[in-house]
Formats: sequence, structure tokens, C-alpha cells
Amino acid sequence: MANVRIDRLHKEFRGPTGTVHALQELTLDIADGEFVSLVGPSGCGKSTALRIIAGLEVPSSGRILFGPRDITKLEPRDRNIAMVFQSYALYPHMTVRQNLEYGLRKRGIGKEERARKVAAIAPMLRLETMLERKPRQLSGGQRQRVALGRALIRDPEVFLLDEPLSNLDAKLRVHMRAELAALHQKLRTTMIYVTHDQLEAMTLSDRIVVMNHGVMQQVGTPEEIYSRPANRFVAEFIGTPSMNMIEGELRIEGGRPVFQGPGIAVPLPQAPPRMPATPQATLGVRPEDIALVPPDAPGAIRAKVTVSELAGAERYHFIELGSGSVILRTPATTVLRPGETVALGLDPARLHLFAGAGEDAA
Ligand code: ADP
Repeated sequence: MANVRIDRLHKEFRGPTGTVHALQELTLDIADGEFVSLVGPSGCGKSTALRIIAGLEVPSSGRILFGPRDITKLEPRDRNIAMVFQSYALYPHMTVRQNLEYGLRKRGIGKEERARKVAAIAPMLRLETMLERKPRQLSGGQRQRVALGRALIRDPEVFLLDEPLSNLDAKLRVHMRAELAALHQKLRTTMIYVTHDQLEAMTLSDRIVVMNHGVMQQVGTPEEIYSRPANRFVAEFIGTPSMNMIEGELRIEGGRPVFQGPGIAVPLPQAPPRMPATPQATLGVRPEDIALVPPDAPGAIRAKVTVSELAGAERYHFIELGSGSVILRTPATTVLRPGETVALGLDPARLHLFAGAGEDAA
């Protein structure tokens, strides 16, 4: 078991088309036993970070420490890690048992000890009845459990998981996600998990690191990241459907901050600590934080419904607001008709204000 310190990690790739800064000054302390996910869009540097921790990639600068030990220069095999990849790459000609034992055998561990270890982990992954099967006789989920077992059997200090569920179909992914969470509960080994799937990160992790363009955007518990996103990128990346973004201006009226967008004026509980240089601002509101209110409610915003979609237990209503549209999320029992005019209320405590407008707003 070990806590992991990632200290000012930087990685550049030099290629014919120039230099790519895959990772910029990544610093992070991961507690012993913690489950931390690195999440972000494709190319944001999350795999590079994991590969450096694994020793498969050399950083341009920065250090990795496991407990007090600086392991930056150690070979992968000397780091006491186990890695699980998206492609589980089992040996097809070997049985499940032989696949599980392979790493132990290579390290010269005797037959009895190997059998004891297989017997200990097989039930944990519900593989007891499958030990003599070949990988082709297993389902995708079972194969992925063997891949996890192969990592587990080595009893590593740190688990590194790179999109381990992304080859599974949607239903199985949800199932394996729960299994992985249960496994972590049981083992309490440090796990570092890479995914582009924010929902996977939200459901599995003690803490999430949101990355974009090689730069850490925010680190926090799933709750913190969801309810207090540090910037517009995090706000839009985390949560489905995405946070609604309304472009407008922030003004002070009668000493109070008011957000004004096309067709709406929303008083805010407090001005940002530093008023931005330009009034351009973006108001963020999650689809579940827009309420349907009586038409005569104070501050009600009148708007027209364009489309309503049923999504199982919920409904998503697309509503024209100013020059754009917002999504309102309600229980499925709330039925709105396209063309209908509704009155909306925004709870000031659940609004997010971002300086500037458009994609680059921070
Ligand atoms: P992610 O895992 O978030 O999709 P990566 O860590 O794989 O992102 O990549 C981060 C950036 O570094 C990308 O721009 C990618 O193209 C670049 N990159 C990754 N590996 C290499 C490499 N071996 N050579 C050149 N560029 C690379």
C-alpha cells in the first residue's frame, strides 16, 4: 500500500509537426487506498500521466513518489504496480488459471504458492468455476475479470487502470463498474483510473482530476466537481445532459449584481470576488436546477417549449430562451407540449457564473 505523489510532471513530445505539451506541471497527492480518476477528452494527457506513473514513458521533468520512495527512474517491473488496459490481452492458448498465474510463474513463484493465490482471488472475481476454460470460452465481462485478476494476483502497491471498461457493451460496463467499486472497497489499494467517461469517474472515484490540453483543471470529490466546477470547461464536461450556458452580461444595478441575457434578467446572490474587466459573462445552470413555477411568480422567465424527450424515468425539455435554448430535466411525469409557454424559475444559490463568453471563457 502506498500514497502516490505526482510532483510537477511535465511531458513534451517532439515530432515533425512541432512540440506537443502532453502534460503540463501536473501535481497531485493521492492518499493510500484512494480511488482517483483522471478524466478528460481524448488527447488531454491522461494516458500519458498514467504511463509515466507506470514507467512506460519517461517524463520531460518532474517526479513520482510512492510513499517516501522516488520511483521516477525505476523500471516498470521494479515499481510494484499492476496495470489493466482497455484491451485485456489474455493469452488465448492458456486457461484462465494459467493466465492468472503467468506473472507469478515468471517471477519464479512455486506451484503451491501460485495455487493458493489463485484460490484466494478467483472467488473475489467470481471465476472459480471458469479456471480451466480458455479465454474464447468466456464472455467479455468474464475476460475483463480475468485481466483484473491478473493484476490483483500480484498484490501491487498501486493499481493503474487505463479505460479498462471501454471495450464492454453499455450494460456490462455498468455492471463491471459496480464490481470494480466493490473490489476497491474490499482491497483498499490505491487505484488510479483513466477514463474519458465522466459518469464512470463520478461513480467510482473518491476524487476526480479533470484535465484538458495537458493541464489539470480541477481536482475534487465528485460532489465538489459537480456542484462547484472551477471553470466553464469542467462545468460543461461533467454532467449529462450538459450544464446550460447562457451568454450575457454581468451588471451592477442598485448595488446588486444582475445577469442580463437575451430576454432574461437574473439577480445574483453576490458578485464574483473580482469583477471581470468586461461585462461579458456566461450563466451556467444545470438542467435539474431550472424549476417550473406559476406564471405570476416573482422573477419568472417566460419561455416556449420546443421538444420534450422521454428518457426512462426522466424527461428532457428543450426550451427556447433568448437567442438559444436550454434543457430542463424533470421526472417523466411532468409532461410539456411543444409550443407551450412555460414559466421558469432559477434558484440563485444553484447558478454558476463564468467570466467572458463562448468556448474560451474561464
Ligand atoms: P489521452 O489519454 O487523454 O487521450 P494522451 O496522453 O494519449 O491523451 O495524449 C496527450 C497528447 O500527447 C496528445 O496530443 C497526443 O497526440 C500526444 N502524444 C501521446 N503519445 C505520443 C507519442 N508517443 N508521440 C507523440 N505525441 C504523443
